[in-house]
Amino acid sequence: MKVELLSHFGDDLMVVNAARVSYGKSKINFDQKDESLIKYLVQHKHFSVFKHPQVQFRLTFPIFVERQVFKHQIGIEANSISGRYVDFSDTYYMIEKFRKQSKSSKQGSEGFLSVEDNEIAKKVYLQAINVARASYEHLLALGVSKEQARAVLPLALESQCIWTGSILALKNLWEQRLDPHTQEETREGVARPMLEAVKNIQGGPFKHTLKAFGYL
Ligand SMILES: Cc1cc2nc3c(=O)[nH]c(=O)nc-3n(C[C@H](O)[C@H](O)[C@H](O)COP(=O)(O)OP(=O)(O)OC[C@H]3O[C@@H](n4cnc5c(N)ncnc54)[C@H](O)[C@@H]3O)c2cc1C
Repeated sequence: MKVELLSHFGDDLMVVNAARVSYGKSKINFDQKDESLIKYLVQHKHFSVFKHPQVQFRLTFPIFVERQVFKHQIGIEANSISGRYVDFSDTYYMIEKFRKQSKSSKQGSEGFLSVEDNEIAKKVYLQAINVARASYEHLLALGVSKEQARAVLPLALESQCIWTGSILALKNLWEQRLDPHTQEETREGVARPMLEAVKNIQGGPFKHTLKAFGYL
């Protein structure tokens, strides 16, 4: 899985200037008062001003993770690679440590398989991918269209997309997908690297916003 920050637009100053336009005011430099204003805006849920700054990523992830990420839609646009046009059947997400099905929660997992069972699971997993891939190639060789042949490929297939969202959309995504109930692959493979990437933007353009959201 890969999270690449491609571009970003706006900063903390953009947020406070969007708020200050209510009074017909604007500032050129961010100061101490603005830090308090950002906190106030978050505390009082004046979230519209956080819709102005945008961040763009290229995400490379298996289809089962892509499906979860794509459930987040408000303030976001995403475009994916198309299996109708491109054969990208050569890259799959590999699982190294298989987790057991949780007994207490329908949507979770807990603990790990024994070392021996983990080795068997890895073999079964890889075997299934190889069979699916060989079937896909066979269908293509018979002249079947990519758009139909792709139906046999597994959810482990790695897809990629360009994902653009407002800093508010990212906050909504982080709130849900950094939670321990979220599937680990989505949490640690996408949500957390996205947060780290925004934190690490040179010059810290969203430093005060991230602080007010509780991420710094
Ligand atoms: C642990 C977990 C398990 C899940 N399991 C499933 C599952 O089994 N099946 C499944 O289909 N999905 C599942 N989801 C996805 C979930 O239902 C949401 O679709 C997803 O988390 C995106 O959240 P959202 O709808 O808040 O995001 P967005 O659609 O991006 O919305 C962001 C925010 O905008 C506001 N908003 C959005 N739409 C409206 C509206 N119509 N009116 C007013 N305000 C709005 C809300 O404040 C919302 O939180 C799961 C999510 C998690 C985290």
